[in-house]
Amino acid sequence: MTRIGFIGLGNMGGPMAANLARAGHGVQVFDLMPENMDKAIAAGCIAAGDAREAVSGCEVVISMLPAGEHVRGLWLGESAGEKGGQDLLAALPVGALLIDSSTIDVASARQVGKAAKARGIRFIDAPVSGGVAGATAGTLTFIIGGEPADFEAAKPILALMGQNLFHAGPLGAGQIAKMCNNMLLAIHMAGTAEALALGVKEGLDPGVLSTIMGKSSGNNWSLERYNPWPGVMENAPASRGYQGGFMTRLMVKDLGLAMGLAEHAHSAVPMGALARNLFNLHAQQGQGGLDFSSILTLYRSKEAGKE
Ligand code: NAD
Repeated sequence: MTRIGFIGLGNMGGPMAANLARAGHGVQVFDLMPENMDKAIAAGCIAAGDAREAVSGCEVVISMLPAGEHVRGLWLGESAGEKGGQDLLAALPVGALLIDSSTIDVASARQVGKAAKARGIRFIDAPVSGGVAGATAGTLTFIIGGEPADFEAAKPILALMGQNLFHAGPLGAGQIAKMCNNMLLAIHMAGTAEALALGVKEGLDPGVLSTIMGKSSGNNWSLERYNPWPGVMENAPASRGYQGGFMTRLMVKDLGLAMGLAEHAHSAVPMGALARNLFNLHAQQGQGGLDFSSILTLYRSKEAGKE
């Protein structure tokens, strides 16, 4: 049994921590939201009063937070604009392994990784793909940046939460790969919504159209595994009022990160820029807290269901 500290028990972190506890590890958890703590405790995790207590005595610590400012705030003690900011690196034993699975900007990942190394703590950036369903089923894809030896050391723990473990390259490379992936995800989700809305407006059934495109050249993950049309896929966020899942505001964050990366690389990303504008518009209309597949509602008639 390994003692694992886990900070950030939201839509993703909650089920990830639960899988580690289910595998028999002692998982000491902390989140700012009491209701998320309650769920993790019900799943067999050990409650900590604060982040420092959660990581105390742990050989492995994992963070799953919204953005770079939260990760820097937690580990480096920079002001995160909310309570919880403290220099937690100082609380970790030398040789501990820090796995940050949040999707954050490359500069923050490198900054925390370098500060960890300076204290003799191993660090990998380890963003994930696969959504809440993948986090719950333990089938996430982990995309790692860091030293190969640290990736190897993390594998037995990551394998309890994910099925596909990739080493993308040195520190920060996991985040770069994740940003490319999420830019593509935003593009095919918006495209899928657009195609479904067009077909339905012309009288097609969304389920029938999804089945046809799913077996044709338009098939993609958004259509097949995360269908944005309510009722087409029982377990998709679209069928529960776009609650849970991957919030639009987090997708807007990721698209902003991808745009920053494109600027740095002098790389043209016209489709990504358009997707960013679409999701931004959607968030500005008050939908930031809904799952990102709710982008479909931008394309539907005001009286949804009467297309
Ligand atoms: P979320 O908002 O549901 O969860 C984040 C949690 O972090 C919240 O419970 C919040 O209370 C907690 N938190 C914030 N600051 C904290 C602090 N200082 N100390 C303790 N807890 C703190 O977000 P999520 O959907 O779980 O996403 C987490 C990360 O994973 C994001 O970077 C996101 O982009 C990425 N991600 C999400 C999905 C998805 O489908 N939801 C998929 C892949 C990657």
